[in-house]
Amino acid sequence: MDSIKIILKKIKGPVWVGITALFVIIIVIIFSSRVLYYRTVDLLTENLRQRILTISITAAANIDPKNLDALQVEEDWKKPEWAQVVSRLHKSKYSNDDIVFMYIFRKTAIDPTKMEFVADADSIYPYANIGGDTSIQIDVNRDGKVEPDGPDKLQWPGQPYPEAIDIPEAFEAYYGPLTSQDLYTDEYGTVITGYAPIKDEAGNTVAVLATDVKADDFFTITTQTLRPFLIFIIFLTFIISILIVVVIHSWRKYAKFLEKSNDDKSEFVGFASHQLRSPLTAMKGYASLIIEGDYGPVSDDLKKAAQIIFDSTKTLASVVDDYLNVSRIELGEMKYNFTRFDLKDLVQEVINEHKPNVDAAGLALEFIPGKQSSYDLIADKEKLKQVIANIFDNSVKYTPHGSITVRLERIGDKARIVIKDTGIGISKEVIPKLFGKFKRAANANKTNIRGTGLGLFIAKEIITAHKGRVWVESEGDGKGSEFYIEVNLDNKN
Ligand code: ADP
Repeated sequence: MDSIKIILKKIKGPVWVGITALFVIIIVIIFSSRVLYYRTVDLLTENLRQRILTISITAAANIDPKNLDALQVEEDWKKPEWAQVVSRLHKSKYSNDDIVFMYIFRKTAIDPTKMEFVADADSIYPYANIGGDTSIQIDVNRDGKVEPDGPDKLQWPGQPYPEAIDIPEAFEAYYGPLTSQDLYTDEYGTVITGYAPIKDEAGNTVAVLATDVKADDFFTITTQTLRPFLIFIIFLTFIISILIVVVIHSWRKYAKFLEKSNDDKSEFVGFASHQLRSPLTAMKGYASLIIEGDYGPVSDDLKKAAQIIFDSTKTLASVVDDYLNVSRIELGEMKYNFTRFDLKDLVQEVINEHKPNVDAAGLALEFIPGKQSSYDLIADKEKLKQVIANIFDNSVKYTPHGSITVRLERIGDKARIVIKDTGIGISKEVIPKLFGKFKRAANANKTNIRGTGLGLFIAKEIITAHKGRVWVESEGDGKGSEFYIEVNLDNKN
């Protein structure tokens, strides 16, 4: 049975779960957004690569390899082959606004680990940018300014291309078309380069055509593609956060409400135990004084009436005690006071106190205290006494004739009390439910014995709090019962 305190603890759990869930969701969203961003970048880059490859391959196919043979040294720019090659390159380059450079290079005849330029799309007059005539100057990379020693440097045949040594793709392109691995940013901007070999009739690569495509816009496109999605993700995170905060807030309010009603109930238990028990004690006391003649001689009728008042008040007081104990259990406010004592003495005490009832019921009683001289344990003596007394009292109540045997024995490091009677017994189906709240067997209801059905429930709670066990065995209706209480003995025993 869960007490309200346990429920409150359970509620505080979900608050932490909520906060953790919020963090997890935010982390997952950040992580998946990153994954999505890079995946989109990859896809768009792949797309760009395919476009550059197509452009480079088409432009390379437009170049006659024989023309390239004629372009070996600087003066060769004057040859008609130069005009043909450059104009074709020029046409290919200016068919697409994003192309920054388009040029042809090849391995040098002397050293195949070095490269030289063969032609460039803008070098129809290779000295245009280094002469004084600004009217013929060319802004090769189309950035709005002419930088003759920078990006707008023009090429002529056989001009060395020393940077190629650091570009493995420039060499790999001899074996087939490819693009640079990544987008790269250099002094000419962020570009990606496509390479396509130019082959002679025999199928040998004689040069490579390179196309540098502007990729600055590419990031803008990526961001633009992802922007609506990111806005949606941020919005979603916001909504989820608000939801979680609302749920946490409601939980907390609910927890506070439960805490408050828990406090109210505790207050009520305190109030009830004082307000109900005190008058009952007084009634019991005065009834007993009347019976004992403390107020002078009383007639037999009055004595009988006072006795009835005394007995009923006693029953009522024990009912009130049961209810208060159940409330304490459910509020988690059952207090225990553990001390060291001898269980044998306690059992003997219970038997002595209840002996008059046993005699009045005409029952035989036997106590078998076992071989141990003492049964020391650490427990709440009053509560344990209450349990033993309740079970012993039940045996007296539910045994119309016959006997009660109380056994005390040691089983390993445990003490076991067995209270056996020859009474009305308990049917097998009822046994598993008997220690529940308000549980009474049908045969007990048939007897004229009144009861709350709370005694065994309280007994089970108390014994469980002692880390012990309480259970019952019976052969069934009319066959007597055997109740067992098992508690740990003190280790020092
Ligand atoms: P109460 O005795 O007030 O009804 P308990 O919780 O002490 O409540 O017992 C619960 C039920 O267990 C009883 O109503 C009765 O049906 C059964 N019971 C307890 N002790 C015995 C017993 N010694 N013999 C037969 N039935 C018993």
